[in-house]
Amino acid sequence: MAFCGSCKTIILFGWKEFYGKVFCNKECLNQGKIDFISKWLDKDIVEDQTLEIYKSDCLSCWEYRRNDAYYSYKISSFIYWSYRQEEVHICCKVCATKEHIFWVLYCLALWWWALPFWPILTLYYIWKNLYQIVLIPNGEPSKRLEDYVKNSIATDMFYKDD
Ligand SMILES: [Zn+2]
Ligand SMILES: [Zn+2]
Repeated sequence: MAFCGSCKTIILFGWKEFYGKVFCNKECLNQGKIDFISKWLDKDIVEDQTLEIYKSDCLSCWEYRRNDAYYSYKISSFIYWSYRQEEVHICCKVCATKEHIFWVLYCLALWWWALPFWPILTLYYIWKNLYQIVLIPNGEPSKRLEDYVKNSIATDMFYKDD
């Protein structure tokens, strides 16, 4: 038994190994390789691209308010079935907050459907969205944005080699 190095699910058998980590399927293995590449990227290139995104107009509202990477979390469940999704948004704080409020309401609206198995998890997802709302930009690109940029550069490099 092992935990997947990408999606963290439990793997009982048939995992794939890469540099001392194990992965449950090909996509997770690819993500593991991308994470590996992202550790070795040139610091200046990452910094430049991060700043460029940070200083661009917001792609949702076209205002110049400084962009960052914000995550939104969505959970839909029905009795013993539950579907979870995580999305990254590159936008300004105003657009991100609208997005988060929407998903908080969405999770709240579906809360009753989460009974009896998923109410705690649903509340956890609501909390995760609320937490993103209170992340106040501090005048420079966040670590989240930098990680997002690293991941995109590494993804491009990975699929170019493939
Ligand atoms: Zn996995
Ligand atoms: Zn915006």
